[in-house]
Amino acid sequence: MAKVLIPTPLRVFTGKQDAVSVSGGTVREVLDELTAQYPDLRKQIFTEDGKLRSFVNVYINDEDIRYLSKDATAAKESDTISLVPSIAGGSTLAAPPEEATLSKDEILRYSRHLIIPEVGVEGQQKLKAAKVLLVGAGGLGAPLGLYLAAAGIGRIGIVDFDVVDFTNLQRQVIHSTADVGRKKLDSAAEKMQGINPHLKIVKHETALSSENALDILKDYDLVVDGTDNFPTRYLVNDACVLLGKPNVYGSIFRFEGQATVFAYEGGPCYRCLYPEPPPPGLVPSCAEGGVLGILPGTIGLIQATETVKLILGIGEPLVGRLLLYDALGMRFRELKLRKNPECPVCGEHRTITRLIDYHQFCGVPQPGAAAPVQETKVNEGEIEVTEVKEMLDRGDNFVLIDVREPHEYKICNIPAAKLIPLGEVPQRLNELDKNADIVIHCKSGMRSAKACGILRQAGFQHVRNMKGGILAWSDRVDPSVPKY
Ligand code: ZN
Repeated sequence: MAKVLIPTPLRVFTGKQDAVSVSGGTVREVLDELTAQYPDLRKQIFTEDGKLRSFVNVYINDEDIRYLSKDATAAKESDTISLVPSIAGGSTLAAPPEEATLSKDEILRYSRHLIIPEVGVEGQQKLKAAKVLLVGAGGLGAPLGLYLAAAGIGRIGIVDFDVVDFTNLQRQVIHSTADVGRKKLDSAAEKMQGINPHLKIVKHETALSSENALDILKDYDLVVDGTDNFPTRYLVNDACVLLGKPNVYGSIFRFEGQATVFAYEGGPCYRCLYPEPPPPGLVPSCAEGGVLGILPGTIGLIQATETVKLILGIGEPLVGRLLLYDALGMRFRELKLRKNPECPVCGEHRTITRLIDYHQFCGVPQPGAAAPVQETKVNEGEIEVTEVKEMLDRGDNFVLIDVREPHEYKICNIPAAKLIPLGEVPQRLNELDKNADIVIHCKSGMRSAKACGILRQAGFQHVRNMKGGILAWSDRVDPSVPKY
């Protein structure tokens, strides 16, 4: 007798039983026997011609057998078989609530949805009843916000506290040039409301934190992660696992993107994939490493597609699969993701049962609080841009080193500076005099601080970091130097 676990939305067909013991040699035989006992269940999980419906997945002991033949997969006595239908935030197999009734205007607006059998009036009502939280109104949040608004999601919450910057416009298409300096929340909400006046937008003007995350997330059916930093990624993941909310994940860097759905119906979570964050500074952010402007559009729309599928309960969700996108090769690849039984937040022996300090976990300073402490630590080795300018004007005997990349040097540079990209610094120390007075700069001061550390460790006596990098130089010394 194998044990079959019945998910909540299907229990109405098994007399409220959450587990049923059934005999059978293969998974198919077990399911046939189960549905012989509960004929109403048969209509739910099998099509007329006896095929398992595509929105029901079958697991044996937490092992997804989707890719294997269900007929050939043997069920042992001790096996637990789980039926996992696609649902989002509660039972979407149930009828959508009364208030999701569509008006005449909405019927016309969504007519191209209504004529798809997989969506139809009921599907559109599910979208209207759905509550989706977007974490971040930036690169990924832009296409997500626009398309989810247009598709008829009833309620969209947005968490963001940033203002629109000129450098955002290359990819964050929800904001326009006239929005520079405005709150991203206001700019995004205005565009989304313009596309769809039926949409309810909830603005959460805050940084998501351990203190507020559970409170904000609890009111939504699913969460779409459009953040750009590791502490918030882990925070969103843990909060979603703790609350049992699906986490639609996307990430981007230069020409590559990733997408998957975490924490859905017992599927793997972000920590199953990446138990620990990379050491601070190893993986550059988009601000440091750059990103193709179109890339967040592609990845954000994959997230939007998964969001809509989960709400409608159709298709095969991107669960347990990590989709990798390479824009340069124009290739998609798919990796299988398994749940890690040792996962500290969703595994068998959980050690994380409430939210933790994610900045400490990721080894990065909390914005605001920890920053001044760090500054005072490195202050002694820093120099102001204006002082460097005076030294150049006086003709002081010192070496100015630029540790940015050659393509950045081409955008703008200080002519007196010698270019040694950070990655080449350790091999090129012999080009420098250990007793010389050395000033190092980069774009904003982060990489040059690392370079200063390398030189000091190698025994260089007089090394200083030019505070604020070439951006500060442009602000305070030479405005003709372009910022990027
Ligand atoms: Zn996990």
